[in-house]
Amino acid sequence: MVPTASARLMDGASLANRTLEATAGRAAAVLHAAGRRPCLAAVLVGDDPSSVTYVRLKRRRAEQVGMDSRLVELPAGTSTEVMVSTVRTLSDDPTVDGILVQHPVPRQVDERAVFEAIAPAKDVDGVTMHSFAAMAMGVPGPASCTPEGIMRLLDEYRVELAGARAVVIGRSPILGKPMGMLLLRRDATVTYCHSLTRDLPSIVATGDVVVAAVGRPELVRGEWIKPGAIVVDAGYNPGNVGDVAFGEAAARARLITPVPGGVGPMTIAVLLDQTAEAAARAAGLAAGLAT
Ligand code: NAP
Repeated sequence: MVPTASARLMDGASLANRTLEATAGRAAAVLHAAGRRPCLAAVLVGDDPSSVTYVRLKRRRAEQVGMDSRLVELPAGTSTEVMVSTVRTLSDDPTVDGILVQHPVPRQVDERAVFEAIAPAKDVDGVTMHSFAAMAMGVPGPASCTPEGIMRLLDEYRVELAGARAVVIGRSPILGKPMGMLLLRRDATVTYCHSLTRDLPSIVATGDVVVAAVGRPELVRGEWIKPGAIVVDAGYNPGNVGDVAFGEAAARARLITPVPGGVGPMTIAVLLDQTAEAAARAAGLAAGLAT
């Protein structure tokens, strides 16, 4: 049973639905202007059950908002060279607007080499070095989807970031690292924590905003949270469990994301929004992507 929470929930599912409605409108505008629907191509290697589920969900949502979705399935033993060449082919295909390489990829594949084969204009998942650098510099373009989704959620709940102390737990290239960059761009004072960080609880306790992006069930305890802090749980562990001990943290935080229904739906909504934006640019429509 979840103890009584004092924090207000940040409802990612609701904001994601509104984002998807706007994305559907943009997809319809692309169809009108270009005579074809925006197209998201997903590359799936192997049959990891979580990856299969994520790709299925992303494709279903794409179709629901009026996009085409293409799936390229490759066997688990696929080499880096074959994956790179597959992604290059999609990069060169004018009927493809966005490319999603579902990760993690199998051990033998050089994930970075595969990501870098994505044409920058089609990097709707925000995984290339080009996208990372552009995002860090504040140049408009696709951002890494989960951190961008978190920023939109923080904005929806009017969280004041300028001058706030933000603690990001995790430094992966697709989540923790870009998260910190986006918070820094909005003038937060950012501290990154990782597996070698000493005395994590006392660092988390300094956070006005805490983002947990670790992949360890309920690692972040309620007693670590500064009373009145904003807590964002990007973790998604088996059994629908986040990286934050929700009940304990909700008793101290001012705002908190639930798991599920917080960060997860925003990730998909941003992916599709960025795909519609890429298609709109390709069709010569005015760009309107919030970055
Ligand atoms: P990842 O690549 O495994 O990175 C995990 C990070 O956590 C690493 O930087 C690691 O530090 C750090 N870490 C591990 N143990 C730690 C500890 N005890 N104390 C402090 N830091 C620790 O994972 P990821 O891809 O970033 O994903 C993180 C979580 O977010 C997972 O639960 C994943 O399922 C979830 N996720 C959710 C979405 C969504 O849409 N909601 C999207 C992507 C990921 P080192 O760098 O030192 O190893």
